[in-house]
Amino acid sequence: MAAPEAEPDVVIVGLGPAGRALAHRCAVAGLTVVAVDPHPEQPWRSTYGAWADELPEWVAPEAIGAVADAPAVQTGEARLLPRPYVVFDSPALQRSLSLSGVHVIAQRAAVLAQHRVLLRDGSEISAPVVVDARGLLGQAGVPEQTAYGIVVATATAAPALQGQQAWFMDWRQDYRDSTTTSFSDGAPSFLYAVPLSADRVLLEETCLAGQPATAVGELKSRLYARLQSRGVQLSGDEVVEIVRFPLHPRGKPSPDAYGACSGMAHPATGYSVAAALTWADATAAAVARGERVCVALWPRGSKTVRAMRLRGLAALLALPPADLPRFFHAFFALPVHRQRDFLSNRTSIAATAAAMAGVFARLPGRTRVRVAAATVGLAGRTIR
Ligand SMILES: Cc1cc2nc3c(=O)[nH]c(=O)nc-3n(C[C@H](O)[C@H](O)[C@H](O)COP(=O)(O)OP(=O)(O)OC[C@H]3O[C@@H](n4cnc5c(N)ncnc54)[C@H](O)[C@@H]3O)c2cc1C
Repeated sequence: MAAPEAEPDVVIVGLGPAGRALAHRCAVAGLTVVAVDPHPEQPWRSTYGAWADELPEWVAPEAIGAVADAPAVQTGEARLLPRPYVVFDSPALQRSLSLSGVHVIAQRAAVLAQHRVLLRDGSEISAPVVVDARGLLGQAGVPEQTAYGIVVATATAAPALQGQQAWFMDWRQDYRDSTTTSFSDGAPSFLYAVPLSADRVLLEETCLAGQPATAVGELKSRLYARLQSRGVQLSGDEVVEIVRFPLHPRGKPSPDAYGACSGMAHPATGYSVAAALTWADATAAAVARGERVCVALWPRGSKTVRAMRLRGLAALLALPPADLPRFFHAFFALPVHRQRDFLSNRTSIAATAAAMAGVFARLPGRTRVRVAAATVGLAGRTIR
């Protein structure tokens, strides 16, 4: 579609989960919206998960592919988390964020300014608010998350799941049991094993955060060795998911950024989809008032919480590999409301501090010293 003749209320550049959620909710709120993306209807292939209690009530039921009522973690002992975890049916989520009424332009934006966008074909669109939702892919020089996953039938996954509905994190290193493959001494990875639907499961070997993150090829070898050691029988033609994305933007985000490029993703987990859905209505309301996105997206407390979360990432990066499972053992020993405070609360400094203090109190002595040093900035990598 060509640029519209009348000036819209808002232009949203990028139609990933963040831009599409915001465009959808702005349209629902009655705003005139132009959205720009080179491939607006390309189906989403990434598997997105979120805690059920993070989602706004308007999310369509058909967007949810599966729910694990009590996902498990294994950090030396198995523990069930009494916090339902949802895995989206990503194409259905995309469809449910309907763009009817949105003027969609299938192009790449070349330049973004506060009130106008220059498209690659030389045309220009002006609006009171221009939102940057271009994501982070391609940004270098920041910590990344990597993973290698395969999709298998539920029956095939059973020996890996070992009776659990899902492994949110399984830190056992049974990939090292393999007699045929040797592995680097890099950071340990964990198995993320979640149902996608009634009959399919994603089995994914994950490096939560690294700079550099563990290579995808190494994670692939670990996954196959781990599954072999658990007796999982594969056909060899499984659908593959490769994950590699930066955990936070490099440098200061634009005041009108939304989604991963805004820094709203949790830097210690990389999760941003639930937050992008949740914060879409408040952001649409700010746009309707002609305010900048940051007015809604970064209320009191949120910037300090982000700085605290970045210290959490610094601690993860500074820990020696062997300490990672100990760190998560302490984290998942927190009461679930404290886990939620750290993972999902973007605004409460007190709640974030209480969660971090709770983890700290549960760490063994030497790990505690390392985490303290990293958290106050004496060790670890530079986090910008
Ligand atoms: C495989 C994978 C699995 C993940 N799993 C989870 C998960 O379980 N839970 C979770 O919360 N997060 C997950 N993430 C992390 C993160 O939430 C996602 O990366 C999410 O897609 C970020 O959404 P976004 O809309 O901000 O950015 P993106 O999804 O990167 O979307 C950016 C959009 O902007 C468009 N664009 C880029 N440049 C331009 C331009 N110049 N002009 C116009 N358009 C442009 C792109 O085409 C794209 O459509 C995962 C990431 C990956 C890669």
